[in-house]
Amino acid sequence: MLIAGNWKMYKGPAETAEFCLGLREADLGPAEVVVCPPFVSLAVAVQVLAGTEIAVAAQNVHWDEQGAFTGEISARMLREVGVYGAIVGHSERRQLFGETDGAVAKRAEAALAAGLSVIACVGETEGERDRGETEDVLRRQVSVLPDDDDLVVAYEPVWAIGTGKTATPEIAQDAHAFVKSLLDRPVLYGGSVKPDNAAGLLALPDVDGALVGGASLELDSFRAICLAASS
Ligand code: PEP
Repeated sequence: MLIAGNWKMYKGPAETAEFCLGLREADLGPAEVVVCPPFVSLAVAVQVLAGTEIAVAAQNVHWDEQGAFTGEISARMLREVGVYGAIVGHSERRQLFGETDGAVAKRAEAALAAGLSVIACVGETEGERDRGETEDVLRRQVSVLPDDDDLVVAYEPVWAIGTGKTATPEIAQDAHAFVKSLLDRPVLYGGSVKPDNAAGLLALPDVDGALVGGASLELDSFRAICLAASS
């Protein structure tokens, strides 16, 4: 079971150091745990978590090694800081920053080629689900992803991210099974995962872990979700 915390644009270096010191001390159970701080906080997270099993990943990665790409960070730079992986294709990147399937594929391929692990996010909007387009959207988003041992998919229905709405177990299970029929890789569930719904979601046969946003920002709730993964 993999539990990844996506911190989004929260926690600068000082807060990250404090949080990671708390994580070091916490009993997180046997889950594989990853935290994904903002770029400026990656180095301190790597330093504070050194010698633990907790991995540090970035929230995005560019496909080129270097160049005139203002505001972007390359896989090689992330490797230099000691980062283990990167999220690509988060719905906030797709919706707010115009990230396309093609760009997501390039980011994933470059990260994998540089030796990073990748968490690739896919998922339908509420309108797409209402129009019966969920499978078409997932097929389009998953079909561009490389089939690689170091890639995991995160199924994150956009309507469930940061909204408090969670997919029903049936919706989550169906979507995960469908994603796996397209690409035989582990699939994390993401979308308002909280301590009180984590165990039910993580018990579903095709759910291999969780990508947690809001509830990963507090030590108590993140730890509770990590422990739910082993129950
Ligand atoms: C996310 O950011 O990937 C996410 C799932 O957020 P939340 O848990 O807050 O819905």
